[in-house]
Amino acid sequence: MPRLGGAGGGDGGIDTAGHGGEDAEGAGGLRGVSHNPSRVRGRGNQDPRVSVDDHMGQRKAPKDGDRKVGRRALLIGGTAAAVGTAVLARDELARLWWRVPGVEKPRKEGEVDFAGARWVAASDANWRRADRPDDYGIDMVIIHVTQGSFASAVKVFQDPEHGAAAHYIVRKDGHITQMIRELDVAYHAGNRDYNERSIGIEHEGFVDRPQDLTDEMYEASARLTARICARYDIPVDREHIIGHVEVPGTDHTDPGEHWDWDRYMKLVREASTAKA
Ligand SMILES: [Zn+2]
Repeated sequence: MPRLGGAGGGDGGIDTAGHGGEDAEGAGGLRGVSHNPSRVRGRGNQDPRVSVDDHMGQRKAPKDGDRKVGRRALLIGGTAAAVGTAVLARDELARLWWRVPGVEKPRKEGEVDFAGARWVAASDANWRRADRPDDYGIDMVIIHVTQGSFASAVKVFQDPEHGAAAHYIVRKDGHITQMIRELDVAYHAGNRDYNERSIGIEHEGFVDRPQDLTDEMYEASARLTARICARYDIPVDREHIIGHVEVPGTDHTDPGEHWDWDRYMKLVREASTAKA
């Protein structure tokens, strides 16, 4: 994205800043509005089953509503089975429960989705808890450039006021930090639909500084993208691996003209083949 403060200082300058991440409509108006459903509930006069989507007046509310009903029904069924029936039935339920859409998978603190990535948690104001790929299918990887240093990107993604964050940040030396689980919806694309269906990867650097885009960064990122594509059966092509600039409605320009797509896609294909 074009706007930019210096590293460290102007937090608002970081790539995903100021766009309220989640909303296509944009932007600034949503800053400071919590995207966290639990906070919405905490306001007291809300029906606890009204999701943040309803609250925000966005689409998707009916879907979320249905899903919640489904989850509740399943929980009731599960309790009945555990109380009323044999241990066998409960074990069976435990073994199969994760196949049921809308049921949250177990999570462990600090767990990452990509071997070798280091976990640093983003503020939970910058993403929405989900159960992908069961509730939302994942069919896209979105490439970003941070418009700032790695350290400043980590910092703003931990900041609840930022309103945006990506799943991963790739540093110039190829180090990868994961800040949001792939299960969850990160606010990185500035478009709700694209957020729900994608994994966001940030790359340390500035769009107008080609020297920032290092060999190590391309290679590490390509391995990460190849792994994501394999995991969710995403075709390795430019329809499914796109730049932030290609997201409908965005005013961001990243990853910028210096991002070498031919080179990157070749590396992703090579990494995919190597794993196959
Ligand atoms: Zn971006």
